[in-house]
Amino acid sequence: MLRLLALLVSLGLMASAQKPVYWLLWFDTEDFVEPTSDDAALELARGLSQRGIRATFKVVGEKARVLEQRGRTDVLRALAAHDIGYHTNFHSVHPAPAEYLSQMGLLDGAAEFARRERAGFDDVERIFGVTPSCFGQPGSSWGPQANLALREWGVRVYMDDGGQVGLNQQPFWFGGMLYVFNLGQHTVRAGLDDPSKLEDAKHRFDAAVASARQQEGVVQTYYHPTEWAATKFWDAVNFAHGANPERSAWQRPPLRTSESRRQAYRIFFEFVDHVRATPGIRIVTARELPSLFEPRDQAAPLATARRLAESLDTRDGFSAADQLLTLLGLPPQHVDGPLRRVATTDTRAEIPRAVFERAKADAAAFVRKNGRLPDQIWTGAQAVSLPDFAATLAADTGSGDVQVRAGRLEFERHIGKDAARLYNWLIHPEGFAPESLLEMARLQAWTLKPARIAATRTARRGE
Ligand SMILES: [Zn+2]
Repeated sequence: MLRLLALLVSLGLMASAQKPVYWLLWFDTEDFVEPTSDDAALELARGLSQRGIRATFKVVGEKARVLEQRGRTDVLRALAAHDIGYHTNFHSVHPAPAEYLSQMGLLDGAAEFARRERAGFDDVERIFGVTPSCFGQPGSSWGPQANLALREWGVRVYMDDGGQVGLNQQPFWFGGMLYVFNLGQHTVRAGLDDPSKLEDAKHRFDAAVASARQQEGVVQTYYHPTEWAATKFWDAVNFAHGANPERSAWQRPPLRTSESRRQAYRIFFEFVDHVRATPGIRIVTARELPSLFEPRDQAAPLATARRLAESLDTRDGFSAADQLLTLLGLPPQHVDGPLRRVATTDTRAEIPRAVFERAKADAAAFVRKNGRLPDQIWTGAQAVSLPDFAATLAADTGSGDVQVRAGRLEFERHIGKDAARLYNWLIHPEGFAPESLLEMARLQAWTLKPARIAATRTARRGE
């Protein structure tokens, strides 16, 4: 009997020693055209609450306002039992974020994002009584400028999907934000229209969990409440390919039949119950994420930073910017990437030691003052590009004149290519291909690094 007890205890320990996998369930709650989608949000929020599950509802500003105007306190209250994120002020009403951001730089773009989107953020905060925990763009309408504004607003998590930036199909830090984005096979959802495909979705979920388990990672599932209401998206019938009708001309989308709606709920909740029953699954919201991960700002060891001389890359969990800060003797902190790509114009074979030391001090002063990496480092009337400077500094022995090295930008491979494909969203104008946003993302990839689950968390899982 005692022996049996001991066996059971050790089996229990083995099960709890298994690394947890974190599951995020989120809903882009955006349809401010079709009132039936309000009922869908209510039904989903209540059904999940009944199961003890907290999801994250990323709410559009205009959606929050119409729920208030329609007197849907029942919906607001049901959603407020979950985590609340933000999903722009007007979603698909043009110009969509990438449409206006594509014409702007990093700093003016951040200011424009704040000007256009802040009012909706404040409305969601006022109506739900909570500061939104996260943000995600409409469709594929992503731009790196949003990060700067969101950080300012106290938003720490960027949670969405897209191909513009990604790292190992798991969460990462980018532009100072914790990104749950581009998770590839770790994003799983069950189609809502065909019950015969549910088993396949469960298998895909199990495979995603097995894969995420290797790294104690994250799996996500996302939907839109409107998918339970309508058979076409509310914005596809109004704002496709740049169309921008007046409010009085907005069309309602075609609706599901009641049988098709019931079937869609059945499929969804059966999928959710499968997730719930999966051993080692921890269901978390966007708000809980930052505390699960190691802190963003940690000092890169000098030995790691020295390897910038070989190539500029995220390495040992540190961004290229983290490594450069170490070489400049600056404390760990988030700094944005440069604004522009410039070439080295100082053609000297060697830079005099005194000139190089002054340039180094100037680079550190720039970072301290602006919270951003400089585009170039001046060595007189000429300058060394940021990548070349980083590689040169990493290789510098500290004595004698300094030979300029060419920096190899390896981290840029994590940024997607082909803007026409990555921004191909029904709502964008046809042929919309903002290469400028991908170039900006490459410049900001100095800040890119994996987000790792904090070790102390893992240790405590044994309880
Ligand atoms: Zn959306």
